[in-house]
Amino acid sequence: MNNYMSISRKDFLKACTLAAGGIILKSSNILGQLQEKTEGFITLRDNFGIYIERGGTIAWLASSDAVVVVDSQFPDTAKNFTASLQKITPRKIDLLFNTHHHGDHTPGNVYLKNYTAKIVAHENCIELQKKSYGNDPGKPQVYADTTFKDEWSAILGKEKITAKYFSPAHTGGDSVIHFESLNIAHVGDLVFNRTFPYIDLAGGGSVVNWINVLEKVIKYYSKETLFIFGHGITNEFVTGSMQDVNLMKDYISALVDFVSNEIKKGRTKEQIALADEIPGFKDLKEMRAGLKKMNLEKTYDELTKNKN
Ligand SMILES: [Zn+2]
Repeated sequence: MNNYMSISRKDFLKACTLAAGGIILKSSNILGQLQEKTEGFITLRDNFGIYIERGGTIAWLASSDAVVVVDSQFPDTAKNFTASLQKITPRKIDLLFNTHHHGDHTPGNVYLKNYTAKIVAHENCIELQKKSYGNDPGKPQVYADTTFKDEWSAILGKEKITAKYFSPAHTGGDSVIHFESLNIAHVGDLVFNRTFPYIDLAGGGSVVNWINVLEKVIKYYSKETLFIFGHGITNEFVTGSMQDVNLMKDYISALVDFVSNEIKKGRTKEQIALADEIPGFKDLKEMRAGLKKMNLEKTYDELTKNKN
């Protein structure tokens, strides 16, 4: 997503309660302020977890022979994340991945670069990052030093980490980062879990092709894969299963079907954008006001782009 979401303490506590048993909090209870800064550092497995503060979900693997991080949020939140990470390992980050270029997933590179040996992203990700933010002095950028076209892998300690590009969807440069032994995949913003996605046609995205990409993701990973999503309607939904990936695919399919039928009926963009609901997704909630309308408008734009 291109705009950060804020996480309320209430939502976070709700998430922890719901996930009781699977989540071990690493935050300190000594100082309220310190706790506030570290409350989003969540352990999902012995040496693997997520960090939620502001922006896209960060994933981390921290063992004696490998430290791997996926996405970096913002410089200030990346600093808070690093403070928590350093409590469990003195090792620097071997690999930092950016799932895509958006300004709530990559700006923290600026802070993390001092602790990181290698930053990896899809080749389109850095081009889009340069195009979107590279000329803005108010938005300093650190770009990946290692890029790939289709797939990139590394073996670190007991873990093999593979980044894969499936083709345009949320942007023109989304990748999925798979921790193969753990069978955990961070899909970035390919899934906005239980909420309307941000669609970035200018950033090379495609609503229509997003369906194909999610079909490939569903085929490539397994029912046992634990998925990490860039965003969820609440913190409890930033991780999930293949069921959630399927739901996202069903939503995008319903969106494309609905808008193309409305176009066939002769409805204008303005009329279509006023629709109350996408059929089958009446209860879907917005992370911020206007995203449903934006979904309808962007889908209209893509479906009519060669006909104007
Ligand atoms: Zn995004």
